[in-house]
Amino acid sequence: MRPAIAASGDAGFAPSEADAIEGAPYGMFVCDANGTFELVNAAYEQLTGYSRETLIGHRTFGSLHDLTHAIRQPAQTHTTPSGNIEFDGECVCLHRNRTRAPVHLAVSRIDAATPGRQRYVGIAFDLKQHAQYQARLWYVTHHDHVTRLPNQTLLTERLDLAITRCARHGAGFTLLIIELDQLRQIGNALGQPAVDLALQVAAERLRGVTGPDDTIACVGGTQFVLVAQATGQQASVLVELIRARLAEWPEISQAPVSLAASIGGVCFPEHGATPALLIRRANVALAEAKRAGSGQSRFFCAAMEAESTRQLELETLLRGAIDNRQLHLVYQPQITLATGELVLAETLLRWRHPTRGAISPAEFIPVAEKSGLIDQLGEWVIRNACREASQLLRRVRNMPRISVNVSPQQLQRQDVLGIVTRALDENALEARYLEVEITEGVLLEHTDTALETIQALRRLGVEIAVDDFGTGYSSLAYLTRLPVDRLKIDQSFIRRMLSDPQCHAIVEAVIAMAHALKLRVTAEGVESAAHAARLTDLGCDEAQGFWFSRPLSQQGLYNVLRPLDGGALPG
Ligand code: C2E
Ligand code: CA
Ligand code: CA
Repeated sequence: MRPAIAASGDAGFAPSEADAIEGAPYGMFVCDANGTFELVNAAYEQLTGYSRETLIGHRTFGSLHDLTHAIRQPAQTHTTPSGNIEFDGECVCLHRNRTRAPVHLAVSRIDAATPGRQRYVGIAFDLKQHAQYQARLWYVTHHDHVTRLPNQTLLTERLDLAITRCARHGAGFTLLIIELDQLRQIGNALGQPAVDLALQVAAERLRGVTGPDDTIACVGGTQFVLVAQATGQQASVLVELIRARLAEWPEISQAPVSLAASIGGVCFPEHGATPALLIRRANVALAEAKRAGSGQSRFFCAAMEAESTRQLELETLLRGAIDNRQLHLVYQPQITLATGELVLAETLLRWRHPTRGAISPAEFIPVAEKSGLIDQLGEWVIRNACREASQLLRRVRNMPRISVNVSPQQLQRQDVLGIVTRALDENALEARYLEVEITEGVLLEHTDTALETIQALRRLGVEIAVDDFGTGYSSLAYLTRLPVDRLKIDQSFIRRMLSDPQCHAIVEAVIAMAHALKLRVTAEGVESAAHAARLTDLGCDEAQGFWFSRPLSQQGLYNVLRPLDGGALPG
């Protein structure tokens, strides 16, 4: 950058101010009461074609700007006592090459530090360049920078327009929210550039299946929103088309990745619809689709709204559950099939609301996971499981190991290792009395924090079980790389194993594979003697289910474990 001060002589500016003027992206000058230039910046030299040496002290700004031919009425013009003009409006700038360019010019007086030495500062910018700049600015603020698709702002404008237009013509449209199921996993495994590439490929494919009047937007860097003319049966066909198009696996960073998507839709007309309402409803449908598994789609219906309202209500009630002492733990025994011994008990959380009664964890745990409340609940479970286990340990001889369920969200965000370590210390409990149940998803998502925590827990002496085994992904490679002690075969396989030969084959294969990898196996949901007998024949190690015991209170577990002379458990 050229030194403005040196070129301008004594312009009366501090060096930092002079630097700011010199670096400004628009033409700036300072002139005296007669309009003679005292300082100009590089952008002004470019705008006028004159070097600063030919301007400063030699020319007046009136010779370059034809104020008498203002293009538009200036916003503000008045003549100062010395005859100079303060000006703010559009006028012509006479270029050194004799061309005339429309500019916006603003000239105002600088309060004189020295009486009688009046000066003016001017700002000028090329209106053509300004229009380009404004168009660029509009583009940037209305588009997603990765996919170059309209962003939330432009989507809302277009959606508003679609609502008004369709309402006027009695027509309909469909709004779809499309979310790639594996985006997070792609990011964890291959990094942000791979995520960007996956979004770009998906955007291109979506462009290919939509019509010229449809709008596709990318919002929040993770979701696509499609406003399509198609309605009714045509909309269902469009959803199938999108799913089929995205189902083809592209190669990203030399790895084939899945672009399988979950889709939530809502149809217009809807009474009182606004862009925000339609998007919220499509999101409700999307959540329902995701609950049904990967690659599913759902259209919004009124029953879903009721469900989402109930979830919101549950969340509010759940916030008070810990403080209001509405939670307690129960323990479900796991029995070693070969010996009939009670070696392990799974901690299950119970919530009894004073007016609504018992609310099932199958209902509130997903709400807690989604709202972030699981961190607080999960910590409460670990601390109380350790406290109650330590009370039992002091009263019984054959203390079983206690297992706790840890959600993926906890492993992702929380210092689970710290919480476990403190809970064990505070209750003088050895780590070998504790087991942590995680789901397959945690292992497959491969987030470093989750994996490090699992490894550190294992080093501490806490055992690791994989819960609901068989319901997640089919990759088994992680079992050889991770410190897992036990697989818990999901209830759905056990329930059907005696009537469905394929389920039987799966159970048999999982037991054989687990033993080959030196892992123990628990069968969940054992409800009959026939199931228990078959599992014993197959060599399954432990069994858990209503046939052996329903979940028990701490006192109930103590009653099962206590020596014959035992009594009530001290609180
Ligand atoms: P899960 O970890 O798979 O727990 C086993 C569930 O199966 C328990 O349901 C248990 O009561 C039920 N069950 C046990 N034996 C049988 C049987 O023979 N037949 C049938 N039909 N069901 C049986 P529950 O207690 O309702 O828990 C449901 C789910 O909630 C759990 O599934 C677990 O995913 C979650 N959960 C429960 N407590 C906690 C907790 O403290 N933390 C976390 N993160 N999740 C929890
Ligand atoms: Ca479990
Ligand atoms: Ca389970």
